[in-house]
Amino acid sequence: MEQELTQTFPRRENGQIVHRSWSVDLECALGAGQAAGLSSQRLRREVAEMAQHFPRWILTVHLDREVKLCQRCQGMLVFDRGLSCVVCDRRYGRPPAGARLTWFGLLPPIGIEGLHRVRDRLVASPPDRHVVGSREGIGRYLLVPLVASYPPDYPEKEPHVHYLPGFFRIPGMPQEAPSHLCHLLTGGRMCLFAPGQWSSSMTCREVLQQRAYAHVIKLLNHADGKHDAFAVVT
Ligand SMILES: [Zn+2]
Repeated sequence: MEQELTQTFPRRENGQIVHRSWSVDLECALGAGQAAGLSSQRLRREVAEMAQHFPRWILTVHLDREVKLCQRCQGMLVFDRGLSCVVCDRRYGRPPAGARLTWFGLLPPIGIEGLHRVRDRLVASPPDRHVVGSREGIGRYLLVPLVASYPPDYPEKEPHVHYLPGFFRIPGMPQEAPSHLCHLLTGGRMCLFAPGQWSSSMTCREVLQQRAYAHVIKLLNHADGKHDAFAVVT
C-alpha cells in the first residue's frame, strides 16, 4: 500500500493553538491537477517532496489569481476528504472549474540584520501574512509567504511562483509590475527561468529551494539599495 501523505495546519481555538491533520486526498486534488497535465504518479511525487522539505506548506486551490478561501469563514481550503475548509470543515466537494492546484506556505527564515535601510521598518510593521522573528545565530529574520501554482501546461512549463501583494509594500521595493531589472512578471510572479532553462523533470519543491528562495533574498537586497542584486550570478 502506498504511503499516506499528511498535512497539518495550526489554528487558534479558545486562546490555544490546536493542530488539525489530514491525509491529502490525492484523488480529489488530481481533479484540479489533471487540468495542469499532472499524472497521478507525478502529483504523488510533488506532494511527497513538499511533505519532506516544506512540511508546513498546504496544498490548496487558486482561482483568478486568488487563493480560494472558505465562503463562510475565509479559512484555507485543503484536500481533506474532498475540498474542505481547514477551519470550519465546510465541504466543497471537487475543486471549482478553472481552479489551479496551488501550494501556499512560508519560506525558511531569511536573515534581515544586514538590510540596514529597511530592517527596522520591516520589524516595526511586517506586511500582512509575513512573519518577523529573532533567533540566536541569524538574529532577526523574515518569513515570506509565497503562492506556487501549477499552470495548465505543467510540467511542460514551470510552476508559477507569486509574492503576496504585501511584499511590495516593504520600503524600497519596486511596484508590483513586470520588471526586467528585478526579474518580475505580471501579478507579482517571479521570473525564474530564462528561455530553455526549465526542465520538465524539475518539481515545485526544487523550484522553491533552488530558485524562488534566492529570488526573495535578491529582491530584499534590491529594496535595501543594492540595485545590482539581480545582476550577480549565483
Ligand atoms: Zn470555513
